[in-house]
Amino acid sequence: MSKTINPVESVQKEIKFACEKLGLEDSFYELLKEPERVLIVQIPVKMDDGTIKTFTGYRAQHCTIMGPAKGGFRYHPDVCLDEVKGLSMWMTFKCAVVGIPYGGAKGGVCCNPADLSKGELERLTRGYLRAINTVVGPEKDIPAPDVNTNAQIMAWFMDEFSMLKGYNVPGVVTGKPISLGGSQGRTQATGFGVTVAVKKACDAMNMDMTNAKIAIQGFGNVGSYTSLYCSKNGAKIVSIGEWDKTIGTYALYNENGLDIEKLFDYKAENGTIVNFPDAKRISLNDFWALENIDILIPAALENAINENNAPKIKAKIIVEAANGPTTPEADKILAKKGIPIFPDILCNAGGVTASYFEWVQNLMSFYWTEEEVNSKLEPILINAFDDVYNMHKHNNVSLRQAAYLVAIKRIADNMKMRGRI
Ligand code: GLU
Repeated sequence: MSKTINPVESVQKEIKFACEKLGLEDSFYELLKEPERVLIVQIPVKMDDGTIKTFTGYRAQHCTIMGPAKGGFRYHPDVCLDEVKGLSMWMTFKCAVVGIPYGGAKGGVCCNPADLSKGELERLTRGYLRAINTVVGPEKDIPAPDVNTNAQIMAWFMDEFSMLKGYNVPGVVTGKPISLGGSQGRTQATGFGVTVAVKKACDAMNMDMTNAKIAIQGFGNVGSYTSLYCSKNGAKIVSIGEWDKTIGTYALYNENGLDIEKLFDYKAENGTIVNFPDAKRISLNDFWALENIDILIPAALENAINENNAPKIKAKIIVEAANGPTTPEADKILAKKGIPIFPDILCNAGGVTASYFEWVQNLMSFYWTEEEVNSKLEPILINAFDDVYNMHKHNNVSLRQAAYLVAIKRIADNMKMRGRI
């Protein structure tokens, strides 16, 4: 068993290190070490059988000095206070790395969405909004999709908020369906951004992306679009690690590369990829230990790479698409093995950046084409990558530490300028 990792403690260590390295006084750490506000709510939901069940929901707002709090909400049985708090802290630094005017937030409801009917899911979402409605809003805190939440859920969330207000408020949430004020390109944006990071990482490491072999853990929104865009850029996706309710964890493997478009169609038809025909099925253990992999991309949940599987990893680089997929222990093991890790708060920032564009379009009530969105997205991600990479090269720190240095320097400059410290 791997040790229980408290995400808050992991982020706190990163903040402390960055503050010290930047020569900032302790007051900065004091202001950043905990979320500004955490709301815990009980959500009563009328189930299809007529009984009432209550679910525990959370919304954590870590820091609002750079702008309104921003971050998704997830539906998962493991959602708990420390997870939501840690994820809200990561969002603050993610937004600061790419330089968008937001602070960080995260929410979630402890539930198993696979056990809920569509009607129950809708009532849960509307109940969650009613329970947290006083702390969200376009100027305060703007939620978005995360694990197991999607455009339909954002539509219900926005509709319930708008009904409470008495007028339409599309800017209260991002990741909405296009017809309700969603942005072109938002659904694909995180995977698009991870692919930009993969390209830049390959350049930095003198690797050829068009010949790269990639293994991706997760085929949800982020993993699937990352697979698609990386394969469109010539890379071979040789393995995809997944979870299925019938057999638990497993991975698909095809040494010649999986056909990702076929995999999308297969998932749309079957709701799962577990029996995809053009691949061998291997265990997730074997997935982590795969030979001849150039790039490993964890795109599922926190702590996926830990002290148990890190020693087996043979990839040349790791690009983090999930939030917090590598434990601090695994970080050390991989550093010793000389495997660079391109960190989550840099590599998966495409999603929140496209969310920013969606919010801007909602505030203007004026909408952009997908080309406009992507042409604004790519340079932001490229600049952020260059900022982090230069910080890493010039300061003898890991790529993760470099990302925190870039983010915390921006936040600290803002705090100083405003006279908070
Ligand atoms: N849930 C995504 C993330 O972790 C997106 C957040 C957003 O768009 O606000 O970055």
